[in-house]
Amino acid sequence: LPDTKGLQRLDAAHYLHPFTDHAALAEKGARVMVRGDGIWLWDSDGHKVLDAMSGLWCVNVGYGRRSITEAVARQMDTLPFYNSFFNTTTIPAVQLAAKLAKIAPAGFNHVFFTGSGSEANDTNVRMVRRFWDLAGQPERTVIISRHNAYHGSTMAGASLGGMTGMHVQGGLPIPGIVHIGQPSYADHGTGMTFEEFGVYAASWLEERIKELGPDKVAAFIGEPIQGAGGVIIPPPTYWPEIRRICDKYDVLLIADEVITGFGRLGKWFAADVYGMRPDLITFAKGVTSGYVPLGGVLVGDRVADALVRGGDFNHGFTYSGHPVACAAALENIRILEEERLLDQVAHDTGPYLKQRFASLAAHPLVGSAESFGFVAGLSLVRRKAAHVHHQLRFDPGLGVGMLCRAHMFEQGVIMRAVGDRMIIAPPLIMTREQIDEMIQKIRYCLDLTLTDLTA
Ligand code: PLP
Repeated sequence: LPDTKGLQRLDAAHYLHPFTDHAALAEKGARVMVRGDGIWLWDSDGHKVLDAMSGLWCVNVGYGRRSITEAVARQMDTLPFYNSFFNTTTIPAVQLAAKLAKIAPAGFNHVFFTGSGSEANDTNVRMVRRFWDLAGQPERTVIISRHNAYHGSTMAGASLGGMTGMHVQGGLPIPGIVHIGQPSYADHGTGMTFEEFGVYAASWLEERIKELGPDKVAAFIGEPIQGAGGVIIPPPTYWPEIRRICDKYDVLLIADEVITGFGRLGKWFAADVYGMRPDLITFAKGVTSGYVPLGGVLVGDRVADALVRGGDFNHGFTYSGHPVACAAALENIRILEEERLLDQVAHDTGPYLKQRFASLAAHPLVGSAESFGFVAGLSLVRRKAAHVHHQLRFDPGLGVGMLCRAHMFEQGVIMRAVGDRMIIAPPLIMTREQIDEMIQKIRYCLDLTLTDLTA
């Protein structure tokens, strides 16, 4: 076994982790992950862990796929790098672009590659502004996003994001980005049915467009299901109403599908699940199952036609269309198809997870437990009630979610805490038996958390 203590010392001395309180980390020491296979990880002390988060919502086909390793190795041997600036291209980048055009929603025939989801959202900002410039409406520059959204960590990504904790560090948002409320029924839907609330939450977009002046607004961006904000599943009425409003004021719609793309909701893209008809789709993560970094923007015909006719778009990254990443993506997509993982999530394991996850709502600590495909979230509450608006929440200072997460970690399940919402996004390969095992472990950890709180 590796020398865990030695690695933890080096880690604390030299490695600044993303989104981490380093004082707390140094006290405990980082958990060193050394190996993965299927839905399982092993740490440096030999403990086996069920990864209910697919890494960071990305390892859709599970760990240890030798065929991806081989595809990557073959491409590295043949041509480890070449760029697609200045009239050159590579075989995997062309093949992946064509493949993505096939699996994307109707009307999407072009892709702009980036190295990550954050870079892809930066690309969106520049692309929609370029589009309106070419359309002779250069004053359309404002992009409307939502509170508590997560769109990445670059200056534009974090600005599009609606997390105030990110905004206060670094003087964000950058100019030209504004936020409206998120469609969270639990927070804002008192006195309404779920469906009524969807239309109401969408009306905030129309209000803001009118306030700003429609001739100033370039685009609206949203995650089909808010992920890092706590797996907030919107009412089915929300996205069609958002689309109607975007059409009315000719505002472009960007679906950030970094989490929801590549099968997580049982289709290639959530845009097809929700009837969003977006103009642009952000993707990353599941495109390679995280084996190699890759992201991009699927560009709908309206925007693509303008860009293609418009001459230079002065934007791009060294690693745009990286041939090794594209080779990994092609093999990853082949696996998703060959193993019919989307159908499985849509018609078999997804509905099974829904039913099993919903059963957790019977636990005394759980107010509600919802899922869609292979994302799910539950709310920990101080007092249960039949209706979500009559439940009592915990004082956020108590850190009940983190307490629960710590139990999960100890018991060998990775589940994420967003305040008092506990969330999962398992690898799409998870079987019914593994779902049972996961639910059993989650229930046990909820018991442990309840015992702590009543002690
Ligand atoms: N958009 C969404 C919806 C995400 O969930 C994430 C990452 O979690 C990003 C963008 C940023 O992607 P990346 O971390 O690859 O830059």
